[in-house]
Amino acid sequence: MRIGDVDIRPVADGTGREDAREVLSVPGEDRWACHPEHLDEHGVLALALGGFLLRTGDRVVLVDAGVGRIRNEKYAGGGFLDALAAHGVAPGDVTDVVFTHLHFDHVGWATSKGEVVFDRATYRVHAADWEHFVEAADADPGAVRKLSPLRDRLEPFDTAVTLAPGLDARPTPGHTPGSTTYVVSGGGQRALLIGDVAHSVVELEEPEWEAVFDVDPVAARAMRNALADELADTDDLVVPAHLPGLVGGRLVTVGDRRRFVAV
Ligand SMILES: [Zn+2]
Repeated sequence: MRIGDVDIRPVADGTGREDAREVLSVPGEDRWACHPEHLDEHGVLALALGGFLLRTGDRVVLVDAGVGRIRNEKYAGGGFLDALAAHGVAPGDVTDVVFTHLHFDHVGWATSKGEVVFDRATYRVHAADWEHFVEAADADPGAVRKLSPLRDRLEPFDTAVTLAPGLDARPTPGHTPGSTTYVVSGGGQRALLIGDVAHSVVELEEPEWEAVFDVDPVAARAMRNALADELADTDDLVVPAHLPGLVGGRLVTVGDRRRFVAV
């Protein structure tokens, strides 16, 4: 993808597999019969894991950092640095790592064995997520261990902010307290990297659906629907974090239904 002067490339790390009926639907109902094309024969929803590489001017930016070296019955990662190398980027070339939020499947390569992986980069995240996942008394110890080494290189933000030419951070809380959408713009075009504001295109097409991963499901649904309303029937690209192939697409209205069309 290219938006104005900004080059956007997917950086694949691995794949997650979730029981779709357990993690995503209208509360108390199973409506997956309307969307069988997104599931395999076992009712599993496949989630791509990874991030995106943005090049703008002399900046080399990662939006999220994959799931890391993990392998269990649901999640498998490990390919992130090789995928980055295939784009001609070594860890030391990365100038900025910006997180949509701090769930484990977005920060996997931020640190490894207590060491910062992208050791020349500045790390950016909304302050509300740093508080929720690292500083809070009830923060998950695994997340604290993973993220604490970033502290000296961290520049949190707590409002909308321009991070680089053509790259703006826009708080979109709900999925997590500091959930952030990164807006890439240029040449009259936009791409919105929305992180987990939506995990599947179904959430962008069906305004009543909710995901169990949302910290505040009501706020998350309102934010997701507001973004979908803003983007529908425009040239803007929407790029969720977990679509198979790490693709983006457009939202279009067909009759009385909203549809995602990959590009
Ligand atoms: Zn995620």
